[in-house]
Amino acid sequence: MPVTTAPAPLAELLRQDPELAEVILGETARQADSLQLIAAENFTSPAVLAALGSPLANKYAEGYPGARHHGGCELVDVAERIAVERAKALFGAQHVNVQAHSGSSAVLAAYAVLLRPGDTVLAMGLPAGGHLTHGSPANFSGRWFDFVPYGVDPESGLIDHDEVHALARAHRPKAIVCGSISYPRHIDYAAFRAIADDVGAHLIADAAHPIGLVAGGAAPNPVPYADIVCATTHKVLRGPRGGMLLCSAELADRVDRAVFPFTQGGAQMHTIAAKAVAFGEAATPAFTAYAHQVVANARVLAGALAAEGFAVTTGGTDTHLVTVDPAPLGVPGRTARGRLASAGMVVDTCALPRGGAAQVTAGDDRGLRLGTAALTTQGMGEPEAARIAVLFSGVVRGDLDPRAAREEVRDLAGRFPPYPAG
Ligand SMILES: *Cc1c(COP(=O)(O)O)cnc(C)c1O
Repeated sequence: MPVTTAPAPLAELLRQDPELAEVILGETARQADSLQLIAAENFTSPAVLAALGSPLANKYAEGYPGARHHGGCELVDVAERIAVERAKALFGAQHVNVQAHSGSSAVLAAYAVLLRPGDTVLAMGLPAGGHLTHGSPANFSGRWFDFVPYGVDPESGLIDHDEVHALARAHRPKAIVCGSISYPRHIDYAAFRAIADDVGAHLIADAAHPIGLVAGGAAPNPVPYADIVCATTHKVLRGPRGGMLLCSAELADRVDRAVFPFTQGGAQMHTIAAKAVAFGEAATPAFTAYAHQVVANARVLAGALAAEGFAVTTGGTDTHLVTVDPAPLGVPGRTARGRLASAGMVVDTCALPRGGAAQVTAGDDRGLRLGTAALTTQGMGEPEAARIAVLFSGVVRGDLDPRAAREEVRDLAGRFPPYPAG
């Protein structure tokens, strides 16, 4: 793998620990010369990476600004206050907790605030696009709570609010969770709020995927509707890996205590500083344009893949996410993912709602899930999205030579470097 130039801190690492430095340089090159179509991935800015790689990583800071269990927190307190204020302004929230280490940690904390072990929770089933934290038996959520799954309409792929309402009435959940790892349409938060109010349930919005679109004004904001909004900072939002919780002033203290000391220890101050940088970037007109371009690119991709014969779930997308069934092309999802990988197009497989009466089963991954957050950060637009759809289809069908496709992918990615030199 051609290793070109190493940024200054990596030059230092290369001297001290070439074995590990080569891994980082190799991964950097891989990200730059292939197409990152994994819907949850993005490229953080050099400014975010600088904060992540800063000596704030050294600081222990249990507690919250002004009330820490460690000394010497005056400056990291400033960083956390900036992160919180920027997030509050960005999302119109009365309170934001920026300490959650990940999206899953944020969900854990939200459950800790609103639920007791054994409580009933209504959430999207995993085969329909629910996250592990929405009741997987392999996850704390499925072990500690009694999850009732709702699905999507098998024909349209859309959430059936009548089904959600009927399940809520039948099971009287303590909380309803809305949010998904693969739902390509906007979520109707007002409809979920109405259902939750009707049965006296709390509403948790797990907006891990769309929160970056919300920041850019390209998706509806769950903050006015949900008791607690859980989110990640590293998906479309383009910040460091991490989570956050947004809520009312009334729930602020309980949310903060659910994160620390209930489910976490010391806050990661370098990550919190990087979150502040990302929130600052997300408040700019350039990010608003980015978020809308992400959706425009996803729409082109969805339309072109449908024209190539893929079955596009819900017939299109409102977001950065596109899920498709390659079955009409006669190729299983796993095979398709392997062919795409050899051509330098990195995607996930996913479960898909089945047409007809057949039930979706867990572990069913015949679909492909794509996202446009990363390629849009690289500066690609509709023409590139359309070309990617052609390459993608040819490779999946097997009528495009993977080596020729690999070369074109390398050229395309090379014209849009995620970290342009100098
Ligand atoms: C990504 C995601 C999460 C978890 O985020 P991690 O940071 O990987 O823990 C939770 N819920 C949903 C809906 C997600 O898409």
